[in-house]
Amino acid sequence: MDKPPFEFAVPDYPLGPHTYYRVGGPARWALIPRNADEAEAAWRWAQAQDTPMLVLGGGSNVLVSDEGFPGIVLFTTSLNRLESLGEDRYHVEGGVELDALVRKVMLANNYEGVGALTGIPGTVGGAIFMNAGTANGSVCALLESVDMARADGRVRLAMDASLYAYRSQRFCGPGDLILGGLFRFRRAEADQRAVYEHYTQRRLETQPQGYCCGSVFKNPPGAHAGRLIEACGLKGTRLGGAVISPKHANFIMNDRDARFEDIIGLIALAKRQVHERFGIHLEEEVRIIR
Ligand SMILES: Cc1cc2nc3c(=O)[nH]c(=O)nc-3n(C[C@H](O)[C@H](O)[C@H](O)COP(=O)(O)OP(=O)(O)OC[C@H]3O[C@@H](n4cnc5c(N)ncnc54)[C@H](O)[C@@H]3O)c2cc1C
Repeated sequence: MDKPPFEFAVPDYPLGPHTYYRVGGPARWALIPRNADEAEAAWRWAQAQDTPMLVLGGGSNVLVSDEGFPGIVLFTTSLNRLESLGEDRYHVEGGVELDALVRKVMLANNYEGVGALTGIPGTVGGAIFMNAGTANGSVCALLESVDMARADGRVRLAMDASLYAYRSQRFCGPGDLILGGLFRFRRAEADQRAVYEHYTQRRLETQPQGYCCGSVFKNPPGAHAGRLIEACGLKGTRLGGAVISPKHANFIMNDRDARFEDIIGLIALAKRQVHERFGIHLEEEVRIIR
């Protein structure tokens, strides 16, 4: 590949510190644009290179190999404009923290949807890519449209319920770039600050604190991944510096300088045992980058 023609390009850039797992080696090149125009230019340039590319938001749902990433990583965290368009509509760039959207916009105006998004780390772009959410709903349901850079140009795609499902969507491919989204909110009747406090407290009670990616696996239809793993007796199982949380079995923690292979090993163990015991195939929610 050519040397990137951008002053915001950095070679051999460590990725681990930019992930919630704190695991992972360097990217061959990091592109850290300062705004959406630079991000789109960098993305287009990277598309033309014969090398793999990864878009990274908050790094809260990725597990990066200790070998690092042998291509270009495009960081979106400076795409942080948030603009009110009036009539409960907001244009939000992909690098805005989801929690900032919840607190500064949704709580401030008592909008519906706080129960779906409270406590989810990372960026709005990452949340849209993952269709992040909870049992109370997900982010794509709050969108009117999404702005993306794709091979066919910059597109504003009208959101439709047929385009997303549980922790997935079908409008943004792995190499595409979500520049932002247009949210349309509705005023809630119930006090959303009480909702926020309730779910914040519930996370503290039910989820472990530390270096992790949240839920490692998606819940299979009609079941809970964490309960299946717990039923296999795997809570507290350790491999090197990683452990299946004794508090919540769908959380695999890096609690002692874990290596990539420690976490991967526990993922494989949980999948194997749940399949042997229940005949259920667990699917990773975490994105594994190597
Ligand atoms: C403690 C904890 C609790 C969590 N709880 C929840 C929860 O309740 N519900 C839930 O759904 N998730 C949860 N998560 C997972 C994670 O926070 C979400 O998936 C989050 O939305 C990911 O956003 P991010 O910006 O960190 O994405 P990243 O981790 O940076 O990336 C995740 C994926 O999105 C892609 N991506 C990121 N930004 C863009 C973009 N702008 N354009 C195109 N692709 C992009 C990346 O390439 C990657 O494939 C939790 C994580 C942690 C650590």
